[in-house]
Amino acid sequence: MKKLICLLLIGASLLSAQAQITPFEAHADKNYTAAYPEIISYYQKLAKTQPQMRLFNYGMTDIGKPLTLIVLSRDKVFDPVQIRKMNKTVILVNNGIHPGEPEGIDASMMLVRDLLKKNALPKNLVLCVVAVYNIDGCITRGLSRVSQNGPEAYGFRGNYRNLDLNRDFIKADSRNVLGFMQILNTWKPQVFLDNHTSDGADYQYVMTLIETQKDKQNPLLAEYTGKTLSPELYKRMKKSGYEMIPYVEGFRGTPDSGIVAFLETPRFATGFTAQHNIISYITETHMLKTFDKRVYATYDFMQHLFDICERDATVIRKLKERVDEETKSQKTFALNWDVDMANYDTITFKGYTAGYKPSEVSGLRRLYYDRSKPFTKTIKYFDNYKVTLTADKPVAYIIPQAWGKVIDLFKLNGVAMKRLTHDTTLNMQMYYIGELRPPMRPYEGHYLHSNVPIKPVDMPIRFYEGDYVVYTNQAINRYIVETLEPQAVDSFFAWNFFDSVLGQKEGYSDYVFEDVAAGLLKKDPELKKKLDDAKAADPNLAKSARAQLNFIYQTTPSYEKTYMRYPVGRLMQDVKLDLK
Ligand SMILES: [Zn+2]
Repeated sequence: MKKLICLLLIGASLLSAQAQITPFEAHADKNYTAAYPEIISYYQKLAKTQPQMRLFNYGMTDIGKPLTLIVLSRDKVFDPVQIRKMNKTVILVNNGIHPGEPEGIDASMMLVRDLLKKNALPKNLVLCVVAVYNIDGCITRGLSRVSQNGPEAYGFRGNYRNLDLNRDFIKADSRNVLGFMQILNTWKPQVFLDNHTSDGADYQYVMTLIETQKDKQNPLLAEYTGKTLSPELYKRMKKSGYEMIPYVEGFRGTPDSGIVAFLETPRFATGFTAQHNIISYITETHMLKTFDKRVYATYDFMQHLFDICERDATVIRKLKERVDEETKSQKTFALNWDVDMANYDTITFKGYTAGYKPSEVSGLRRLYYDRSKPFTKTIKYFDNYKVTLTADKPVAYIIPQAWGKVIDLFKLNGVAMKRLTHDTTLNMQMYYIGELRPPMRPYEGHYLHSNVPIKPVDMPIRFYEGDYVVYTNQAINRYIVETLEPQAVDSFFAWNFFDSVLGQKEGYSDYVFEDVAAGLLKKDPELKKKLDDAKAADPNLAKSARAQLNFIYQTTPSYEKTYMRYPVGRLMQDVKLDLK
C-alpha cells in the first residue's frame, strides 16, 4: 500500500511537471519570451511538486527584487557544503544579464522542467540556474534591439541604474552583482555558462560560442576545454542541427576577412569567473534567426554541456582542485593581453556574400549580405593573445581599512584576510602613480583609467590596528592580484576606487614660499645643482616659476607623501606580523 501511495505521488508530480508549459511554448508562433512575473510564478509552481528542485533568493537587486536561483539536485540535497562532501560537480547557468537577449530564460524554463519530468537529472552534477539576472531590465519590456528578429517584446539592456551588468563584475556598482557573488561563492561551481544573443554580421549559423580566451585561462583548464570539452560541444551541436562557430566579432570589414577571438576581461561575467578558475562559456545566438530557433539552440547547448559534464564530472572537479592548488603558489600574473595578429589559425566559415550598394537613406555606400549567395570558405581565426603586462605577487598586500569597498568585495568573494592587532610601521613597496589621461566621457558610470604608469618605491608605512593583510597563497590569487595591481586592465584602481589619492590636499602661497625656497637653495648646493640640471634638461621647467617652486616644494617635509601614492602596500618580505 505504501508503495502504491509512493508511486501515485511520483506519478502526480510527473504529471504536474508535464502539464506545465512555458509562456514561450504557449504562443503558437513561439515569438514570445516570458515576462518577469511569469518566470517566477512558473518556477514557484514547478518547485511545489518537485522535491529535486528548490528555489533560493540571493540579495536584493537594484529594483528591489531578489535574485532567484533554481537548484536541481537528483539526491534532493540542497546544502552546498554537503554537496561538496558528496563530490558533486556544480554547474551555474546565468540568464538575462542582457534581458533583450532572453533565449536562455525561456530555454532554461523548458530544460529544468524536462529534466525533472523525464527523471533525467544528472547523477554527478548539481545544476544551478539564475532565472533572470537583470530583473530591472527584464521588467522594462519593449523593442530596444532594432536589428534583432524577435521576440515580440523583451527587456532592456540597462538595469535600474542604467548599468550594463555584463561590465559590472569588478567595480560592482549594482546590487545584482553582490547577489551573484554570493551565489558563486556559496555554490562554488566548476563550470559557468552565460546565455546571450549576438550583434553584428550576417552568416548561416544560429549559434556562436565564446569560451574563456585560452591564453587568459589557466593552462590546465585551457588544455581540457580546448582539447575535450569545446570540440565535443561543437560536434554535438552540429549533430543536433545547430552547427556552431566561434563568436563572430572583431572582424575587419566582413567575417570572410577573419574573425578575432573575444577577450573577456574580468569586468565581464566569464572574465570574472575565470579569475575563480571556473570553466566558462558564453552562448551568443544569431540575432537575425527566428526566436524559436535561437531558444531551441540554447536548450540543446545546455543539454550537451550538462551531458558532457556529467560524463567528465570527476575529471572536471579534480582539475579545478589541482588548478586551485597551483594558483596558490603561482608567482607571476598577467595583467593585460593583446591579440596576436601574426599568429592565427584558420576555420571553415559558412557565411553570406557581402556586397555594397548605394544607400536609399544617404545615397552613400552601404553594406548588405546576400542570403541567396551562401558560401563556405576557410577564413583566418585570430584566437591567440599575447600577455602585454605582468606583475609578480608580493608576500602579502596590506589594505588600510579605510578602503571599505575593497574589503567588502574581498569578503564576498571568499578572500582570506587577517587584521593587524596593533599600530605598526612596516617596510613596504608602494606605487606612485604617474601622469594619467582619463577619458573625456564616462564609461559605465566611471572615468576608467588605462595605461597607468607606476613607480615602485620602498618606504616605511604606518598601518593601524585592524588594517587588512591579504596573503597571496590563495586559490583566489588571480582575483586578488588582478584587482589590486593598479596596472591591470580591470583593477580596482582602473575603476576609480582610489581616485581620492590623486588629489593634493595642501599647497603653498607662491609669494610666501618664494623666500623659503630661496633660503633652501642657498643652504643646500646639491639641491641647487639638481634644479639647474633639471632646468637644462626641461625647457618648460626653465620657463615656469611655478614649476621651479614646485620642484623645491617636493623636497620639503611639508610635501604630502600620500599624494599620488597607491594606498595598498606590497609586503615583499615574509616578516612576522601580529595578526588576528
Ligand atoms: Zn549580451
